[in-house]
Amino acid sequence: MAKPLRSVFRRIRSVRVLTSEVTGIDPETRCVTAADGRQYQGRILVIAAGAVPNLINTPGAEAHSYPMYSVTDAVRLSTALTQRLETAEGESAGGTDVVVVGGGPMGVETAGALAENIRYIVPKYFSQALADGCRVHLVDMVPTVLNAFSPKSQAYTKDRLGKLGVQLHLGQSVSEVRGDGVTLADGPVIPAPITVWAGGLQAGKIIAESGLAQGKGGRIDVTAELRAPGVEGIYVLGDSANIPGSNGGVLPQLGSVAQQSGKWAARNIHAELNGGTRQPFDYSDKGYMAMVGRGAAVDELGRKRLQLQGPLAFVSWLGVHLALLPGFRQKIRALSSWAAGYLTHSPTQVFVGKPD
Ligand SMILES: Cc1cc2nc3c(=O)[nH]c(=O)nc-3n(C[C@H](O)[C@H](O)[C@H](O)COP(=O)(O)OP(=O)(O)OC[C@H]3O[C@@H](n4cnc5c(N)ncnc54)[C@H](O)[C@@H]3O)c2cc1C
Repeated sequence: MAKPLRSVFRRIRSVRVLTSEVTGIDPETRCVTAADGRQYQGRILVIAAGAVPNLINTPGAEAHSYPMYSVTDAVRLSTALTQRLETAEGESAGGTDVVVVGGGPMGVETAGALAENIRYIVPKYFSQALADGCRVHLVDMVPTVLNAFSPKSQAYTKDRLGKLGVQLHLGQSVSEVRGDGVTLADGPVIPAPITVWAGGLQAGKIIAESGLAQGKGGRIDVTAELRAPGVEGIYVLGDSANIPGSNGGVLPQLGSVAQQSGKWAARNIHAELNGGTRQPFDYSDKGYMAMVGRGAAVDELGRKRLQLQGPLAFVSWLGVHLALLPGFRQKIRALSSWAAGYLTHSPTQVFVGKPD
């Protein structure tokens, strides 16, 4: 469903797309160095390098967990799960446990989807006995799920996950991830060959090595105009930035924040280059949403946090995420894929291969 950048900018002649990893940033000269050694310098530099999983220095997490951040991560996890199920199908005590670390939207959506797959997909493509032997665990160090949501949304989500068979381990932190399970800080081990890491995000290496002052999560604490403080001509956006919100805190790492900050920065850059006045970012708060398996979601919409739970919230989740996708063709493909998956309980793709 992702639209290639060359396709996004095909008709915008003033944008030149270059595909390369940026390995160095010099804030003083606003010059970036690419992996092939080429350098690019501009009057303005925009840093929108996203984020990487924050493994919170947990021993074993890098070697043994599957982060969920990119399409590549999702394919890798799906392949590993399929392979694990293939192996478990041939074992006498067939089944497998999966641990999801992190009870935020990413962890809740992943745990819900895994539990749904165990309920509907595993019996269809493997066997009911194998499905009966599979369990999903959700672990979080805080005593609830969806910490940023209202108590009503949290209660609905816990109830819904419980009905899907997800075992909740709340108020418990993970002290180690091993190849055969996770160790909780107070001692017990949850045996599981697959651990999904959804424990939060931090800015990537490129930001850490830039020399720009970092704030919470390694992100850059930007000014209200979305500029890096103390240097000229650098804007930092989306998941790479701590963007001040109206309540004195910072805005969350959301697609809507990234999209709006991108458009706002473009206007400020235009003003900066043409003698206009830069404006402080005014975020239009659309609220939060999380899907909790098939036909269920929690939505807290707009600044007033209008609360929806259940099927209506699910339909609203689908509508909003469809609207966020770039390109008409991508929207149609997503809609038909979701409809087929919903009506037939089929996975959109079955990956077979080695995880790495
Ligand atoms: C599983 C998941 C589900 C989510 N669900 C939702 C949701 O339902 N609603 C919502 O609002 N938000 C959601 N989010 C959050 C949302 O996706 C992010 O907030 C948003 O994508 C951030 O946009 P960005 O442009 O800052 O970063 P990204 O979208 O991460 O883009 C950063 C880009 O920079 C590139 N890059 C990074 N480093 C370098 C480098 N050194 N050189 C060159 N290129 C580089 C990356 O390859 C990437 O293409 C979700 C996130 C995840 C991971």
